[in-house]
Amino acid sequence: MPTMTEPTPLTEALLPLYKRAPMELVRGEGVHLIDADGRRYLDFTSGIAVNALGYGDAGLVEALRRAADGLVHVSNLFRTSPGEQLADRFVASSFADRVFFCNSGAEANEGAFKFARRWARAVGGPAKHEIYSLRGAFHGRLFASVAATDRPSYRMPFRPLAGGVSILERDITDLDINLSSETTAALVLEPIQGEGRVRVLDPEFVRAARAMTRERKIALIFDEIQCGMGRTGHLFAYEGLGVTPDLLTLAKPIAGGLPMGAVLATEEIASAMQPGDHGTTFGGGPFVASVALHVLERLSDPSLLAHVREVGEWFSNELREMATRTQRIRAIRGAGLMWGIDVMEPAADIIARAREAGLLLVTSGEHTVRMLPPLVITKADLARGLAILEETLLAG
Ligand SMILES: *Cc1c(COP(=O)(O)O)cnc(C)c1O
Repeated sequence: MPTMTEPTPLTEALLPLYKRAPMELVRGEGVHLIDADGRRYLDFTSGIAVNALGYGDAGLVEALRRAADGLVHVSNLFRTSPGEQLADRFVASSFADRVFFCNSGAEANEGAFKFARRWARAVGGPAKHEIYSLRGAFHGRLFASVAATDRPSYRMPFRPLAGGVSILERDITDLDINLSSETTAALVLEPIQGEGRVRVLDPEFVRAARAMTRERKIALIFDEIQCGMGRTGHLFAYEGLGVTPDLLTLAKPIAGGLPMGAVLATEEIASAMQPGDHGTTFGGGPFVASVALHVLERLSDPSLLAHVREVGEWFSNELREMATRTQRIRAIRGAGLMWGIDVMEPAADIIARAREAGLLLVTSGEHTVRMLPPLVITKADLARGLAILEETLLAG
C-alpha cells in the first residue's frame, strides 16, 4: 500500500471506513472546493461523478430553495406531483415506459435485479433467476449488488452474498456459454466501468450481448449510475453506444448531490410488477424529486451535452500529448468528461501530490487515476488541471 500522511481525526465517532484526504472542506465555488485553511482545489472528482453542475450553481440553489418551500416527505402512501413529473420526463427522454425512484445507486441495482427476476419468473418459471455481471464491474455494496461487483476485498469479508449472482468475462464466448434462456434472468453491465479502471466496453461486444439477451429472453440492465446523465456527452451512455437496454439504473448526479436513485424500465419488464412487490419509504419524495427535475432539465440541455463532447474530445487529445511528452502514462481510456489514465506509480501517490498542488483526483484501482470534473467546467479550467497533473506526474 502507498504511504499517506494520516489525517488528524476530527472525531473518533465515525466508523473508520474511508481513507479520507486530510483537509476539511467547507465551501465550494463553481469547479473549486475550499478547505478550512482557505486553500482552493480545482475539483476533478465532482463528489465521485455527482456534482455535474459544480458548486453554488445559481439554478440548483434556487431549485433547492423552491423545494424547501414545498413538502419534504409524505411517503409513497400518497401521490405527490414532483415525482410524477420527473417520471414523465425520464420516460419522454429515454427508451423507458416506467420509472422507479429509490435513494442510492446500490438500491437502484438491487431494485433492477428484483424487477428482472420478477419478470423472468413470470415468463420462464422459477428456474429463470440467475443474474450475471462482468469482470471489472462495480454495482454497489449491498448483498446482491456486491455479489455482482468484481472486487474480492469488497466481497470476501461478507460472504455468503446473495445467491444466483455471478461474474462473467467481458467476452462474447463466455456469455454464449453461460447465458441460458431457461435459467438466466438478467445480464448487468456498465457501458463504462467506473470503478473498474474506467474501461469503455467495446460497442461490438455490447451489441452482441444485446442480440444474445434479446434472443434468449434475458433482461439487459445498463448500470449508468456513474457514466449516465450527461457524463459521456449524451444524456444516457446507451445513446452513444446505439444499444438500448431493458432496464437502466441511475443515481450519482441525478438530484444535484441529494441522495436519489432510479430504475428505468420497459413496459415488458414493468408489467410483471404488482403493488407490494417492491418499495421504499423515502424513494421519489417531493423534495428530492423537485430538485432532480431541475437537474434533469439542465443535464438534458443540448448545448451542455455538446460542450461535454467538445471539451471531452479536446481533453483526451491533451492527455495523449501529455503521455507522449512525459512518458508517464501507459494508457488513456474514457469518453466525454470521464477519463482514466494508467500510471506507473501507485495512483494514490499521484493523487496525494496533485492535492498538495491544488487538484483533486480519484483512483480507479491501484494504478489508474480517474478524472470526473463537473460537466460545466470550462476548457481553461481543464487546461489548468492538466498542467497540475503533468507537473505531478513528472515529480514522481
Ligand atoms: C457509485 C456506483 C454504484 C453505487 O452507488 P451508491 O449510491 O454508492 O450505492 C453502483 N454502480 C456504479 C456504476 C457506481 O458508480
